[in-house]
Amino acid sequence: MPDDERLREALLELQLLREREASNHRTTEAILQCVEAVSRARSPRIGLSALFDAIRDVLSADACLLVERVGTAFRGVSSDRLDWVGGRIVMPFNTMRRTRNIADLDKAGLWAGEIDVSGYSAALLVPVIEGQGEFAILCFRRANSFSAGDLTILERVASLAIRAEASLRLETRLRLLAATIEGSSSGFVIADATAETKPLIYVNPAFEALSGYRSDEVLGQNCRFLTAEAPDAPERTRLRAAVARNDPGTFLLRNKRKDGAPFWNELTLYPVRDDAGTPTHLVATQRDVSDRVNAEQDRDRIRTRMEQAVATNTEAFLMLDVDRNVLYANSAMLGLFPAPPHDWDRGTSFAENWAAYVGVMRASEGVISPLLEKVDVEELASLKRGREFDLPDGRSALVRGAYINDGGQARQIIVLWAANVTAIKASQLLLEQRLEAIEAAVDGIAIVDDTGRLSYLNPSAARALGYGAAEDALARKWSRLYEEPPEITAGKGFSTLLKRRNAEAFHEVTASLLAGGGAVLVIRDVTERLAAETREADLQQALSRAQRQEAVSQLAAGIAHDFNNLLSAISGSATLISLDPSNTEDVETHSGRISAAGARAARLVNRLLDAGAPREESMTFDLRAAISDVPDLIATSLSADMSLGLEMGDAPILMRGDPGEINQIVVNMALNARDALGTTPGCIEIALRMDTPITQRPLAVGTLIAGRGYACVRVSDTGRGMDTETREKIFEPYFTTKGNAGTGLGLSTVAALVRASGGGIDVRSEVDVGTTFEVYWPVAESWMSDEPEDAGLPAGALAGLRLILVDDEEEVALVLQGFLERYGAEVVVCPDAELALEAVTEDPDFWSAILTDYDMPGMNGGALVEAVGKTAPRLPVFLVTALARRMSDPRVGPDRVAGIFAKPVDLAQLGQILAQLQPGTDTTEDEQEESSDAPAHRG
Ligand code: ADP
Ligand code: MG
Repeated sequence: MPDDERLREALLELQLLREREASNHRTTEAILQCVEAVSRARSPRIGLSALFDAIRDVLSADACLLVERVGTAFRGVSSDRLDWVGGRIVMPFNTMRRTRNIADLDKAGLWAGEIDVSGYSAALLVPVIEGQGEFAILCFRRANSFSAGDLTILERVASLAIRAEASLRLETRLRLLAATIEGSSSGFVIADATAETKPLIYVNPAFEALSGYRSDEVLGQNCRFLTAEAPDAPERTRLRAAVARNDPGTFLLRNKRKDGAPFWNELTLYPVRDDAGTPTHLVATQRDVSDRVNAEQDRDRIRTRMEQAVATNTEAFLMLDVDRNVLYANSAMLGLFPAPPHDWDRGTSFAENWAAYVGVMRASEGVISPLLEKVDVEELASLKRGREFDLPDGRSALVRGAYINDGGQARQIIVLWAANVTAIKASQLLLEQRLEAIEAAVDGIAIVDDTGRLSYLNPSAARALGYGAAEDALARKWSRLYEEPPEITAGKGFSTLLKRRNAEAFHEVTASLLAGGGAVLVIRDVTERLAAETREADLQQALSRAQRQEAVSQLAAGIAHDFNNLLSAISGSATLISLDPSNTEDVETHSGRISAAGARAARLVNRLLDAGAPREESMTFDLRAAISDVPDLIATSLSADMSLGLEMGDAPILMRGDPGEINQIVVNMALNARDALGTTPGCIEIALRMDTPITQRPLAVGTLIAGRGYACVRVSDTGRGMDTETREKIFEPYFTTKGNAGTGLGLSTVAALVRASGGGIDVRSEVDVGTTFEVYWPVAESWMSDEPEDAGLPAGALAGLRLILVDDEEEVALVLQGFLERYGAEVVVCPDAELALEAVTEDPDFWSAILTDYDMPGMNGGALVEAVGKTAPRLPVFLVTALARRMSDPRVGPDRVAGIFAKPVDLAQLGQILAQLQPGTDTTEDEQEESSDAPAHRG
């Protein structure tokens, strides 16, 4: 190769190198120009538009566009053509790192969208992926196309454009943020976290409004000037710690404004750190939440009060949330429905608590009713009146429930109340029982209103007030049946004795006023009680009389005993003498006088004994003897111009009973007769007779039965008499016309005694003319003696009788023995009871009867009666005693003794009675009385 050719090649090579160098230089120049344009700009916006200018300049382009991918398309973000910003285009992103002809793109359908590129011929595109975003920068030319060098330049400056865009965006965001903070309604402060005192470096206008401070007053200071709390308040301590550690947090503080007004500040603290994580700033938002806090405090206060009220309520209270878990239960709930272990704790479910309660009850009480076991709380809440449960532990609970609307939720809160109604139920029961008791009461109980009309009566009251049934009496006057009833309107209660109209019945009526008007009446029939009181008063009187006379009669009894024995001997001897057929007339007369005087003496002695004798039941006696002394008793109290006659007839009237009682009755009537005479002259007659009425005869007291034998004593006087009204009342207890001089008890006692004996009393009276009382006593058939038989026993009347005669007084015994043997009896005399008992024990069937004295040394008559009753129960024993009317030895009652004879013994009477005994038999008196169709046997 020639040298010049080599030189030419070398020169060409050098020229190529120079050209490449120049091209590199141009590219570098262009890039520098672009960088310079961006870096010289005062703001990102100016930088970006300067960059676009530089790019257009170095590439000789007509337009520039920066796009960002949005979904599948791109959107224009920056351009020197303003109409392209915001426009959407679809274009090949990855395939286009080169220069293209626009017409080709269009033809290939690769360019579509809102950005109109008609008028441009070539496009240059460089895609850039920056961070999360996908961007692209495009340049357009109107005439010819771009070169490869142009692409290189654009590739170099593309990221520059993207970064300029990013800083523009950052700046925009910061401006927005700043505006937001400035315009925020929340207080917003920033403090320097690197300085010791954390001074404020920024406060927004809302903070100024909130605190009342201007920013220039507070910048540079710590924010604590706002606080109104003590330094050691818990919330302040927490804030201090958070600030020291640069922790985020929310705090509720009591602050005060510049003017001193307090407010609640909700402060949210947020530390700002640099890239190394070192805190640089503290950001805090502040909000006045006074309204909210005050409302919360109000609500809490109300809730606390409500809970206290519910807690102290004795009614059990339970509140369930929408899931039926416990919101609240008071202690009464636990007391009524114990449910360990949760015991209705907040948050535990109703179902588990109820199951626990049922479990506890089953363990302690046994059976659980299905109703209780399957309690459905929804059902309870919907019941209007609740439901009553008898709890297994014996209590009763009334459970009521309700739904409560809780801010429009679909399900509602449930509240349950349970009242312990055990006491109420118990008192209900008690009331029912009381009503039953009142209904069943024997006393009448009635309720009347204040006009005296009945609104309630128990059956007893209905009966007492004269109504068939309580219903018939309602609204009627309570008092219609009483004489002189008191008024209830008097304003006071009363307790008074009321007499039934037209009846001998007395009611004690007590009225207790009721608070709401009206009264409760208690009506008690006291008719019987009054009668009993009368009887008791009589007895009391008799007792005191008996006591008074006891002393006298004891004295008298001692003398009378001995005296009777002497008289027995005298009278007996006289009788024996008079029986001797060889007597001269003189002897007859004298012995008769002795007998008569003896009899009178005996009567006197007996009267002495009578004076203090208690009544002796059921002895056999002669009615005549019982009343023979009445004139003697009365005589002393009669004045001279009054006469008293006694007519008794000759026949003895034998009766069983108490002679003292009959004596008392007749004396009573004789004294009334004397009182009726007063001071005027007049006479009293006492007469005795037998009567057998042929028809039934009702009397003032008692009724006489037809065909029955009665002994009748008539006491008549010529005194002042009685009018009808008086006569109707004389048998009432305490009725007297004699004022203080009378007791009004005489006739009522007489009536009671006569009634008890089965007899009757007849009264006839005429004012100023006189009065006649007739008293009737029934007489047993077999004891009536029609003919006077005095001593007139037939000879041998006692033949065949084997008698034991027991008496320590020999004379008495001898007289009796003489008399009995005269009529044919075999008599063995025993001086003491022991001997007699021996004889009986030896051969009980041998004897017909024993006749024994009562008062004997050693074994007395009573003891003998008892002993014989054991060894020979069927052997009749007759008792002879000087103290007949004072006998009170229970061993000698009528069931043990066949008869009692008073000393001195009426021999004729003794003979008559003994004559009725059948020899060798053991017939007793009682059996004789009963055998009415087989009259007494006479031997
Ligand atoms: P007392 O004698 O204490 O008054 P009584 O019961 O014995 O009580 O008598 C009651 C009343 O009966 C007497 O107060 C009297 O008015 C009346 N009375 C009784 N007997 C007669 C009589 N023989 N003549 C008139 N009135 C009599
Ligand atoms: Mg009287």
